[in-house]
Amino acid sequence: MRTVITGGAGFIGSHLCEKFLSLGHEVICVDNLITGSLVNIEHLRANANFSFIRHDISHPLELTGPVNNILHFASPASPVDYLQYPIPTLKAGSLGTHNSLGLAKAKNAAFLMASTSEVYGDPERHPQSEDYWGNVNPIGIRGVYDEAKRFAEAMVMAYHRCHGVNTHIVRIFNTYGNRMRLDDGRVLPNFMGQALRGDSITVYGDGSQTRSFCHVDDLVEGITRLLFKDFHEPVNLGNPAEVTILEFADEILKLSGSKSPIVFRPLPQDDPKVRKPDITRARNLLGWEPKIGRSEGLERTLRHFQEKLKALGKTTTS
Ligand code: UDP
Repeated sequence: MRTVITGGAGFIGSHLCEKFLSLGHEVICVDNLITGSLVNIEHLRANANFSFIRHDISHPLELTGPVNNILHFASPASPVDYLQYPIPTLKAGSLGTHNSLGLAKAKNAAFLMASTSEVYGDPERHPQSEDYWGNVNPIGIRGVYDEAKRFAEAMVMAYHRCHGVNTHIVRIFNTYGNRMRLDDGRVLPNFMGQALRGDSITVYGDGSQTRSFCHVDDLVEGITRLLFKDFHEPVNLGNPAEVTILEFADEILKLSGSKSPIVFRPLPQDDPKVRKPDITRARNLLGWEPKIGRSEGLERTLRHFQEKLKALGKTTTS
């Protein structure tokens, strides 16, 4: 099996590289490193089954030899990142999806696209199931990501319907774990970094908005199961355990033993008020559900950030 992973040097992508290597695949990691990092794949470089190509998938990619699977994960994915890179985000979702689908068609490979709970926008239905069409502001600051991913889903379905490509779409809800960047701007690295450095915890809005956090190991298991299923419509993957952002801040403060104060900052534009996956489809289709609860997952992730900060000499708690 030869498997191409675009965005393979990113947070989720690097875990997928590991997973497919462990399944005995030859893994070709493709990344332009705008938000990904070679540090994430350093430990894989010595593996003879692993190779890295520095390439921006919004330009066509030609590979010699057979390819069995293509997982398209290349895109800035945190709100701060896609605000910083709005046009690369639009291009990764549109041109990048087109190019990776073209490769899948040429190689007769199975294809899986990383979509997102952002396709539901600021949802008016709760929890979100796959048949909900969403509530997205196309011209808002998040539109570059949301609409690129919505376009990507449409493109994937068209390649499936018109060209018979064996496609899959995973709608990924908030995911966390080892190798998230401390500065990616998402709530978990922000709160953990702030707690460990003794800085104020920045809660946006009044903190009553909700999210549901899934550990990356659970997500990777679900993605792997989906790739090998004969099913082509989108599948939500996420952990349905919902929490308000203020409760989440408290959990991280308790876990880290930090005395950081909580401060309130303005809520960014179009910030979804609620988010929680309905995972009935994943349960029935894949026999999948998350196994790692938030307290265990947060503990593991905090340890990872502690080590990172210690290496930088910036932690105040042990
Ligand atoms: N958030 C926050 N403080 C931060 C970063 C994020 O209160 O320092 C909030 C953000 O407004 C949102 C939630 O946490 O309501 C999750 O934000 P994140 O950027 O992780 O991703 P999103 O789920 O919005 O895509």
